[in-house]
Amino acid sequence: MKFTRRFKFDASHTLPQEFGVKETRMHGHTYKIEITINCPVINGRAIDLDKLKKTVQEEVIDKLDHNHLNDYFEVPSAENIAVWIWNQLKEKLQDIYEVKLYETENHWVTYGGE
Ligand SMILES: [Zn+2]
Repeated sequence: MKFTRRFKFDASHTLPQEFGVKETRMHGHTYKIEITINCPVINGRAIDLDKLKKTVQEEVIDKLDHNHLNDYFEVPSAENIAVWIWNQLKEKLQDIYEVKLYETENHWVTYGGE
């Protein structure tokens, strides 16, 4: 079964010119993350939700929330952040299936899922 939980964080960034003129100006997003776990259901339960919440909070949200992403990423695009999130979580959440990162409600990237 696949189980998904949504998280969010606020952060600012600027991006290189090839992302568009508006993205070169300093601005912020409320990013939404959807972490999907793929694992068997045992006694009616697929995952340890407390462990998932704690791991994502510590490994991702606490590190990015209310920060300027250019301090941490050379190019803080949704693409690069999604891969970073995956790498932050893959050791502690071995059943991780997919990371979706929404930069706006109309624009998101998906990593994993295969
Ligand atoms: Zn942006």
